[in-house]
Amino acid sequence: MTVRTLLVFLLLPALAPAVLPAQSTPAAVFGYTDFAAESKIEQQFLAVPDAKLAGQHLKTLTAEPHMAATPEDHKTAEYVAGKFRAAGLETEIVPYRVLINWPKVVRMEAYDPSGKLLISGPTREHVDGDPGQDDPRVVMPFNGSSGSGDVTGEVVYANYGRLEDFDQLASQHIDLHGKIVLVRYGSIFRGVKVYIAQQRGASGVLIYSDPQDDGYYKGDPWPIGPWRPETGVQRGSVQFLFKYPGDPETPGVASTPDLPDSARISPEGNQPHIISIPISYHDASPILQALQGPGAPQGWQGALPFRYHLGPGGVRVHLVSQQDYQRRIIWDVIGKVKGAEYPDDWVVAGNHRDAWVYGAVDPNSGTAAMLEAVHGIGALLRQGWRPKRTIVFCSWDAEEEGLIGSTEWVEQHTKTLELAVAYFNMDVAVAGPDFSAAAVPSLKQFIRELTHSVPSALSATVYDQWKLAHIEGNEHRTSNAPKEDEDVHVGDLGSGSDFTPFLQHVGVPSTDIGSSGPYGVYHSTFDDYAWYVQNADPHFVYLQEMARVFGLEALRMADSDVLPYDYVTYARAIESYIAAARRKASDAGVSSLDFGSAEAAAGRFLAAAQRAHELQTAGTGDLPRLNQALRATETALVNDAGLPNRPWYRHTIYAPGEFTGYAAVVLPGVNEALDARDGTRAARQLSVLTQALNRAAQTLETIR
Ligand SMILES: [Zn+2]
Repeated sequence: MTVRTLLVFLLLPALAPAVLPAQSTPAAVFGYTDFAAESKIEQQFLAVPDAKLAGQHLKTLTAEPHMAATPEDHKTAEYVAGKFRAAGLETEIVPYRVLINWPKVVRMEAYDPSGKLLISGPTREHVDGDPGQDDPRVVMPFNGSSGSGDVTGEVVYANYGRLEDFDQLASQHIDLHGKIVLVRYGSIFRGVKVYIAQQRGASGVLIYSDPQDDGYYKGDPWPIGPWRPETGVQRGSVQFLFKYPGDPETPGVASTPDLPDSARISPEGNQPHIISIPISYHDASPILQALQGPGAPQGWQGALPFRYHLGPGGVRVHLVSQQDYQRRIIWDVIGKVKGAEYPDDWVVAGNHRDAWVYGAVDPNSGTAAMLEAVHGIGALLRQGWRPKRTIVFCSWDAEEEGLIGSTEWVEQHTKTLELAVAYFNMDVAVAGPDFSAAAVPSLKQFIRELTHSVPSALSATVYDQWKLAHIEGNEHRTSNAPKEDEDVHVGDLGSGSDFTPFLQHVGVPSTDIGSSGPYGVYHSTFDDYAWYVQNADPHFVYLQEMARVFGLEALRMADSDVLPYDYVTYARAIESYIAAARRKASDAGVSSLDFGSAEAAAGRFLAAAQRAHELQTAGTGDLPRLNQALRATETALVNDAGLPNRPWYRHTIYAPGEFTGYAAVVLPGVNEALDARDGTRAARQLSVLTQALNRAAQTLETIR
């Protein structure tokens, strides 16, 4: 679901599939007492993922539209299960019965004050020459979790629909009650735009793609270039993911097919009740052009060739949305390789398989790469190799509707997953050549170190290429931008993909990787195989690269002698978060808060982490016990009661922001209380944080 931000656009040369260079064999690796034997296994693994085969997987998976719960989606599940079995994985297709809406009617008309029709839509997505657009199975553009209804109203333009955008309208005394809010895509998760519009009294939302953000302003549109064409629409869920993801009727409970209806709750709090409809700029343009009222502030002007106004006045819109909500069957595919030494300690690696339409980039570049990673693991298995820990590959369904397949599976296996040593996510694996990653701090160095071992199509290794883009990114930064650390940047995990239930509900250390590039067809029918081959990766070398990185994550973690978590970095990150929260508290005038105990607990955690790091490096003593304590440390950061107002989110350090959605909010309990200027709640949450940090420190202190 996520679109990674781009550091730089590199030119895409025609390249032959990469061969393994000599420098991809490190002598020592954190977590291994002697890396020589494992190094041989890694080299054998890295030689297997094949660019051509990855391209074939992609072609097969994207041959038909395969939205979650459709027969075509089931076909892709069978395909993935077949490849898992062929590699020797113990494989099952796991069904869930979950609430999903499909569109029956989506319509909009706009009129000027004289009653003249300005536009009637939505206009069908169309460009000359796209091969897949006319398939009758292409679902009409709609928003997952949208309300149904028939509303007419005046229009107000609200820029990106961020909290500050709505506040700006309020400061100009523009009332939103009964209005249709027109917002552009970008900056934050679309569900947040609708969430705030609904809170402010709007009766409907139109979300359009402005050419400034992913259209002609960026470059040539498809089919000439990679950017969004005039009729291209971004579908997508507007579920309130920041409250809870998954089946909106079963928070905390798995929607197994036999779950009785009496065990389900009303989805009301988790979805908008107002209508929202995604449209193209072809359809938004006549509305924006007719809109009167104050001129839009400078930053609100997009790339359409006229001056934008805020409204209301000049145009009325009629919206009809009839959504068919049904409990539908979806299918996860789960493939396991049992660990020889620690069978109960799982290393989980997953990618979602369902797409809004063809999903060549999102998500099936990830599926194709995962299948070649599985191919590599299969080759090792055939030689008699067994991992130390159990490896579980997962092909999630219904991610697009709200991370549903992964969330239900995690909710079903919460107890087991409390022992899982890692979750590795890959959603959009390849939209171009620029590798990027996000992770919990304990795995940031793990992912950096690992990319030294994977050859790259553009540089010697994926790390070198990543570093190059990082340096160029820094050069292009303005002087007042935050100073980046010396090493390549690994981001924080917010939400918008399947790592959310693992990390933020259960506390499984997680990473998310991808490789980005110019990509303007996100969630449109044009995200298809033809687009992929022309724009992203004509020789599938980046699929091969991502297969290697993804597979190596699983392999290196599963076989490690000592779990390679870096809690020193984690503790330092937490110290910096606390310092920032302290500054925020004084800026917000919540000055009575005592940060001393939290700071002391973070300091204790850091000291314990430094001692643990020495023992991890030495790799001697009671290793099973050491590993157990290392793993339990992340769990110690989970607070069973969860966040105030959203108890499903239980991690004390990371959550998706209520008003950002994709982006992470750190120390969410404390910071959200400060945002609300609620000193009492902030004090309580500071105490919850302090307890969590002391638990984590205590857990590490048991290591000797
Ligand atoms: Zn996706």
